[in-house]
Amino acid sequence: MIDLHTLGTSSAVPTSRRSLAANLINFQGERILFDCGEGTQRQVMRLQAGMMDIEKVFITHWHADHFSGLLGLIQTLSMEGRDRPLYIYGPERTGEFTDRLLTTGYFDRSYQVVAEDLELDEVVEGDGFEIRPFRAHHGIPAYGYVFEEDDALKVSRSKMEEHGLSSGPAIGRIKLGEHVEIDGTTYGPEDLCETVRGRKIAYTGDTAAHGDTVQAAMDADVLIHEATVTHDLLAGREKRHSSAKQAAEIARKANVDLLILTHYSRRFDKDPQPLLDEAREIFPNTALAEDGKHFGIEPHRPESEQENT
Ligand SMILES: [Zn+2]
Ligand SMILES: [Zn+2]
Repeated sequence: MIDLHTLGTSSAVPTSRRSLAANLINFQGERILFDCGEGTQRQVMRLQAGMMDIEKVFITHWHADHFSGLLGLIQTLSMEGRDRPLYIYGPERTGEFTDRLLTTGYFDRSYQVVAEDLELDEVVEGDGFEIRPFRAHHGIPAYGYVFEEDDALKVSRSKMEEHGLSSGPAIGRIKLGEHVEIDGTTYGPEDLCETVRGRKIAYTGDTAAHGDTVQAAMDADVLIHEATVTHDLLAGREKRHSSAKQAAEIARKANVDLLILTHYSRRFDKDPQPLLDEAREIFPNTALAEDGKHFGIEPHRPESEQENT
């Protein structure tokens, strides 16, 4: 299962209930942080979500509500004796802004911080996944990100049954690409395996509603889309932010499985339900992000087995 934790859900300023933008993915033990607003490290601690294992941080844009937790996080990792590098990725000037953070105040670091300005066509490769930026529309250089698990070869139970085979070590070797003889017949991956699409999660950061998000999030398992306000309150913000209604329209066009709304204006601090109601009218499978909420994303199954679920 991929664990997704929405850590901070308030836009612009934190509230007594909500921290600023941050989302954490745990993929097979590797933690990847998307945005790091003020309060992020305490949220990760509270959830015991593995702060020391954060490997990469993707900043969507350099507005303070999306990066103001970075300095504290970097310092705490050092106090805890981290020795592995921490990678920070973002749009243009990410290297410059990170350098400025690191040269503010007096503190020593026990490890290296590697910051990189990503180009739009760049891909960050991980162990079993990749992360790509896409253009967000927010009036300043801003990206959204797509996390995509590698496709995998999986043994199809129905194909095994067809051949009268049951699971065992030989099947495990076939899954790794080998050809193996069982009871006088040679089987390979082409006989028993199917390619199963990797899981996909898209996160917009701050953006006006845009076709670029539809394209980037196409067929994703989860789209985390900002929904700063309800549609009646969008006037004056429409070039930088989205309404819940627009987020739902994007989710529908992109054919995603689940839409998660986040980045609520202060006026929805106590009660974000109107955002959810508005989105569900267009895209029923919508959920509200809350600080510390967990979403589990199960592995996909071979196509031939999906009808029976
Ligand atoms: Zn923001
Ligand atoms: Zn912003």
